[in-house]
Amino acid sequence: MKIAVIGAGVAGSYLGGMLYKRGHEITIFESNKKEMHWPVCAWGASRHMLEYFSNKAGLNFNNYIFHVGRRLRMGLPNQKEEFLDLDGLVTYNKKQWESDLLAGITVEYGINCDKKTFPRDKYDYILDCTGFHRRFLPKPEEDFVIPAYEYLVENIQDINEFHVIGYKGARGYFWYFPLSKGTGFMGAGDIDRKYYGVKEFLETHPDARIIKKIGRPIRLSPPKLMEPFHDDNIIGVGESIGTVFPMLGEGIIPSLLSCEIFLQVLDENKNKKVKFDHKQYREKILKKFNYYYDVYRIIRLKMDGKLSTVKHFNLLLSMYKNMKKDEKRFGFEIDFEKMRRLVNAL
Ligand SMILES: Cc1cc2nc3c(=O)[nH]c(=O)nc-3n(C[C@H](O)[C@H](O)[C@H](O)COP(=O)(O)OP(=O)(O)OC[C@H]3O[C@@H](n4cnc5c(N)ncnc54)[C@H](O)[C@@H]3O)c2cc1C
Repeated sequence: MKIAVIGAGVAGSYLGGMLYKRGHEITIFESNKKEMHWPVCAWGASRHMLEYFSNKAGLNFNNYIFHVGRRLRMGLPNQKEEFLDLDGLVTYNKKQWESDLLAGITVEYGINCDKKTFPRDKYDYILDCTGFHRRFLPKPEEDFVIPAYEYLVENIQDINEFHVIGYKGARGYFWYFPLSKGTGFMGAGDIDRKYYGVKEFLETHPDARIIKKIGRPIRLSPPKLMEPFHDDNIIGVGESIGTVFPMLGEGIIPSLLSCEIFLQVLDENKNKKVKFDHKQYREKILKKFNYYYDVYRIIRLKMDGKLSTVKHFNLLLSMYKNMKKDEKRFGFEIDFEKMRRLVNAL
């Protein structure tokens, strides 16, 4: 089939690469110019999952790892600290990984595609992998995004572990994710745009050198609120259909999971008359990301000051059970007591 992939982020690169391997005629369109293209992200994710996806794509994930986390330090609004044991949370060279997935594929950089002018009839399918932009799909039921930005910094000598600070009311958080040799991403997502921690970090690290400042909002609305997932021959994959874990604003692995569902549906129907079964895709996406809606509700209730650990115990339990089931996918320990303490402290 002839397929246009719009957006060379994690979803577009992985899906483009995997479809190309299956023999499809793929063109990827990316709005950034090649030399300016940069994955806006703190490049942290679970090694277990990235190994899994790398193997499928024929890459060796060991070649991309920057930092293997052991313990995450979390500052809380009550001046307390909590520590999470890490099991697989790493930072990796996301730019290189995505670029390697695209080997051999035609990528048209510097083209900001627009649904109205895009030659839709020339392709069997157009995949909206534009992430937060969702440029090719209709408006969803409820779109909720959190503003975020970060610096790529170097010359940081005293922190070599993951560090986050949770904001009161779960209205955002600050992060420092180490890369290698004293470099790291430092930034924050904050609904109130105050970005506590960023200025303080630079004040306490006068030798820090800023290499880059980047940012964009992160979508927290889960797939349940982001329908439709398709419009005629356009299909959404990744953050464009809300596959971000709302508690953490973590979207790399969920984007890849949605790619996997897309490929499964395509493969299962390859000998049937129907080219792509939208109904099956919709059902599988909603099932896989079903509990993201509970997590989203927890966040929204907390932000509105309405979360009660007694009244909303079932929501919390659902989040815990689903995360526990998938502990390796997150790369850190999932402990109910710690989770309850964190939710209470925020
Ligand atoms: C500051 C920040 C830090 C983050 N840190 C982490 C983290 O550490 N770990 C984690 O798991 N998640 C993180 N996330 C979330 C994660 O990066 C995203 O959820 C994930 O990248 C989404 O993947 P995607 O492929 O769907 O979209 P994206 O990766 O956003 O890719 C979309 C691509 O489409 C292109 N595009 C957009 N519009 C058009 C158009 N009209 N025409 C052509 N191209 C277009 C964009 O330029 C971009 O390259 C972070 C997000 C932000 C903003």
